[in-house]
Amino acid sequence: MKTLTVSVVTPDGPVLEESFSMVSCKAENGELGILPGHIPLVAPLSISAVRLKGEGDTVNIAISGGFLEVRPDKVTILAQSAEKPSDIDVERARKAKERAERRLKAKQDDVDFRRAELALRRALNRLDVVDQ
Ligand code: ATP
Repeated sequence: MKTLTVSVVTPDGPVLEESFSMVSCKAENGELGILPGHIPLVAPLSISAVRLKGEGDTVNIAISGGFLEVRPDKVTILAQSAEKPSDIDVERARKAKERAERRLKAKQDDVDFRRAELALRRALNRLDVVDQ
């Protein structure tokens, strides 16, 4: 079976480097499914889950945006943050979600709505990945 080496890297260091048979991720302009032998590609990624399909298992990773680089035998994901389900602190994500929702509801001039919206998306994405 053909595989791809997948490397996930954040500013804090490497999160994962393993072989998988397929990578599914969400680029800013749509879903991408990458199999071994894919043409080279660079694409910005959304706040989303990256799905790594192995021979028996599937690994989901929550990423907070970043870039995907595809070469025929390797996929590199450079993300602002990336967590496997076991590394996600559910309580922290719930609190971040509530904080962001409160800020979005507040309708105060000093609230940075774009920032609160992004924080909410990161928190929801982490909670989704834990549930998958
Ligand atoms: P918070 O408001 O809780 O800090 P955030 O979305 O603002 O959440 P980020 O700026 O995306 O946090 O991430 C900062 C660092 O904290 C990253 O290393 C990220 O992996 C980690 N991190 C953030 N939230 C969680 C979580 N719920 N569980 C595990 N690690 C987390």
